[in-house]
Amino acid sequence: MGSGRIFTCPGCGRLLRFSFGVGWMMPGPALLKRRKDVDDVLDFSERYPDGYVVYERVVKRCKNCGNLSNDMDLSMYVMKSPVRHAHHFVQVLGNNISLEEARSGKYKKYKDHLAPCQRCGCTEWESFDEPGLKEEMEKGNICCPDCGKVLTADMMTGYYMWD
Ligand SMILES: [Zn+2]
Ligand SMILES: [Zn+2]
Repeated sequence: MGSGRIFTCPGCGRLLRFSFGVGWMMPGPALLKRRKDVDDVLDFSERYPDGYVVYERVVKRCKNCGNLSNDMDLSMYVMKSPVRHAHHFVQVLGNNISLEEARSGKYKKYKDHLAPCQRCGCTEWESFDEPGLKEEMEKGNICCPDCGKVLTADMMTGYYMWD
């Protein structure tokens, strides 16, 4: 189950809904088949069956124009020294490895998902999980993508769970 936060911009009144975490639905390449902007991730899943993809939802901020979007992280990790054994085929089916395994130090980042900004087309992002976004807000670095007003944690007007 994931959580979400709703912020109301005091400058322009825009509601910003940010979902975090992963839902109940089993994440994996099957979840992406309906999307048209994830070819890089699907290619990766086929080429690196012993790698994994981060399906957690995050807030992404465009490095060029500061636009905010809320999507799956989709960064891709490969094994530092790939091994070939039977277990390998289990992973092919859904990049299904545990968090402990993912953080074991056996993996390194291969690349980020190329997600062109809806506003300016730039493909470079910074991404924030829930604590990361809070931290960035405390520094006054998160701005409304419409009017540019700095958003702070006390502008949160709602909380929700999603699955
Ligand atoms: Zn605004
Ligand atoms: Zn942009």
